Amino acid sequence: MTVDLHCHLDLYPNARDVVKEVQRRRIAVLSVTTTPTAFRGTTRLTEACPQLKTALGLHPELAAEREHELALFDELLDETRFVGEVGLDGSRRFASTRDAQQRVFDHILRSCSDAGGRVLSIHSRSAVTPMLGALARVPGAGIPVLHWFTGTRQQAEVAVATGCWFSVGPTMLAMAKGIELVRQVPRDRVMTETDGPFAALDGGPAYPWDADRAVDLLAEAWELSTADTKAQIDANFSRLVAASASPQL
Ligand code: MN
Repeated sequence: MTVDLHCHLDLYPNARDVVKEVQRRRIAVLSVTTTPTAFRGTTRLTEACPQLKTALGLHPELAAEREHELALFDELLDETRFVGEVGLDGSRRFASTRDAQQRVFDHILRSCSDAGGRVLSIHSRSAVTPMLGALARVPGAGIPVLHWFTGTRQQAEVAVATGCWFSVGPTMLAMAKGIELVRQVPRDRVMTETDGPFAALDGGPAYPWDADRAVDLLAEAWELSTADTKAQIDANFSRLVAASASPQL
């Protein structure tokens, strides 16, 4: 099965067509959202499709302007076992919102912990160390899946010790650093993603079916056949879904 563990389905201009194609190809998608307000509409987009899950999110780039939506986040948290996109962004462009980002992320982790844990799709661009620090302070938040991780080897080591998983896409795996990461971390903690439509591929947005290209690149990096790589990702996905359904993560 093709799995896209981090895709913004609701942000494609032709979202309904993408959902239809995803169903036709029987792809499993975790559709992450960027604000709590977007959660219900995105859930409706995918409610007829059991292999499509919607995650409740508050993107760090929007944390400052949407901090008031944390109350709605807490209200909606009972409705899903998946949280994302959440996290921290340390790039200069968002330097002025770092305090708000930290408050929002800490709040979300505590809420997840109070709710018994969630699977979390986490953004950590230029903010790996504070992100890992926040996770370490709230160990009951659930299973962190680091999306498009670009930290150092040492940070990856800490992330693995903290229980993190990694979701990797074709654009990330086109770079030597991405390949180095998937060779370093345990294979049973790796998932495929696309980050469409934000991530670009061949001059257009990436689509959920492009997760297959991540499988091909993983197969090369791991020196496995495509079939064995697919089997590894399938097994990982089954474990993650089973864990997400357990009352206490
Ligand atoms: Mn994203």
